Amino acid sequence: MASVLTQLVQELRAGRIMVVDLSQPLGPETPVIGLPPMFAPSPPFSMEVISRYDERGPAWYWNTISLGEHKGTHFDATVHWITGKDLPDNTCETIPAHRLVGPAAVIDVTDDVARNHDFLLLPEHIAAWEERHGRIPAASWVLLRSGWSRRHAPADFLNVGHNGPHTPGFHKTASELLARERDILGVGVETVGTDAGQAGTFDPPFPNHAIMHGAGKFGLTSLCNLDRLPATGAVVIAAPLKIVGGSGSPVRVLALVPA
Ligand code: MN
Repeated sequence: MASVLTQLVQELRAGRIMVVDLSQPLGPETPVIGLPPMFAPSPPFSMEVISRYDERGPAWYWNTISLGEHKGTHFDATVHWITGKDLPDNTCETIPAHRLVGPAAVIDVTDDVARNHDFLLLPEHIAAWEERHGRIPAASWVLLRSGWSRRHAPADFLNVGHNGPHTPGFHKTASELLARERDILGVGVETVGTDAGQAGTFDPPFPNHAIMHGAGKFGLTSLCNLDRLPATGAVVIAAPLKIVGGSGSPVRVLALVPA
């Protein structure tokens, strides 16, 4: 009898399970979250050639890259927020690998977000989702499908108005429900951060960060292709670089999805 893994390989080769890339390209144009001017900003992505088949290295091409940890499609470790600073295994290199892989629970709020850029997920939306799809699975990545990744121009993606950014996120009561009453790995979003654009003005500020990381949960941001995932049934692999003491890392997020 074929083992589950042998069967997985067969299904992948036959195209009955697809690998869907949930990551955005990472380069100099990749938007980064803006902060009020009294706070230190994250630098842009830059890349410098070390050699490219030339006198510096005749047969090889390689680069030096420089970027903030929280750039593009990236992973938020629990140490990222002050609420998670004393938790065990809270930095990138200490997270047990099994906590990076789990089933996806995809909550589609695309229509709500089209009507209201400041849309916040509420417990009632989670209840409605669970009514249709069952309880959010154990050890799952909860992915907020907002359609925001269709905004390709950085200005549209960041959507900053005269009173700050306007992008969707989680109401603190939804974050509390997910972090404390469900057994999740963390949440993932299509926007630049796991909090709503206006969350700096919320009480507490940036509640999703404060609640999730305080509960030992992770974050994934700037995801795309969530519209290619079923509400349940996909498996997500989100492995940050093993940066010693790292608070986060660019991440290639892959989903295994039934065709
Ligand atoms: Mn981050």
